[in-house]
Amino acid sequence: MNIKILGNGGAINDGLPYNSFVINETLLCETPPDIMLSLHRNSIDLASIHTIYISHLHGDHLFGLPFLILSAFFSNDETGTEFSFEIIGPKGLEKMCENLVVSAFTSNHPCIKWMKEFCTFLEINETSKPKLVNGFETTIFKLDHLIDTYGLFLAREGNSIDFAYVADTRWCESLHRMLTHKPQVVLIDLNGTDSDPVPVHLSIKDLQEKAIPITGEKTTYFGTHLKKEFHSTISCVRCAKPGDEINL
Ligand SMILES: [Zn+2]
Ligand SMILES: [Zn+2]
Repeated sequence: MNIKILGNGGAINDGLPYNSFVINETLLCETPPDIMLSLHRNSIDLASIHTIYISHLHGDHLFGLPFLILSAFFSNDETGTEFSFEIIGPKGLEKMCENLVVSAFTSNHPCIKWMKEFCTFLEINETSKPKLVNGFETTIFKLDHLIDTYGLFLAREGNSIDFAYVADTRWCESLHRMLTHKPQVVLIDLNGTDSDPVPVHLSIKDLQEKAIPITGEKTTYFGTHLKKEFHSTISCVRCAKPGDEINL
């Protein structure tokens, strides 16, 4: 499995490209406002993307979708390439996507019709088992964020977890449970700081005090969804950076 980091920034950040990544060049996770820039900068061909996973319906994870749809619509026309996407995310996803694309380009724009014809929507919850990456089973787990938010993990059939994505969340029971399986690599929201009056996101302190005691040295954490990049002094914690590739 190849995981390519496109962006590592949270909703408010110091000029970082927003949080998104691609697995095996076919699964795109999150479509933040700058998604088209990030795809181009990292030489990901939109035609190779078949599945799009949206963890939750906040703008820093979704508001780039109209431009992705527009780009696919015009590329289809110009190159004859058959683009189509399965778009996966929480309840309300389809309506929200349609509203966004209509708001961006008006309901008269032919890309709306294209989206309805060439995009399928799958709305998930913690019981869903969507097929995201060939050869891997997907498990969805609910996170503790301001709105319905889902993380995912991928495992080769019957085996331990290779990769987990922990989107926006504070520390919660389902995250604890997932970590007891000691995934090889976890890409994790580290937007929080030790001084947050009320925790909304995870912080390095959460990793040190809660996560690493569960996983030991078995798991490597890549922090993403950041306010700013960080230098880690903990051997199993790294700062995810745009262009990084993780091979498992
Ligand atoms: Zn976010
Ligand atoms: Zn959020």
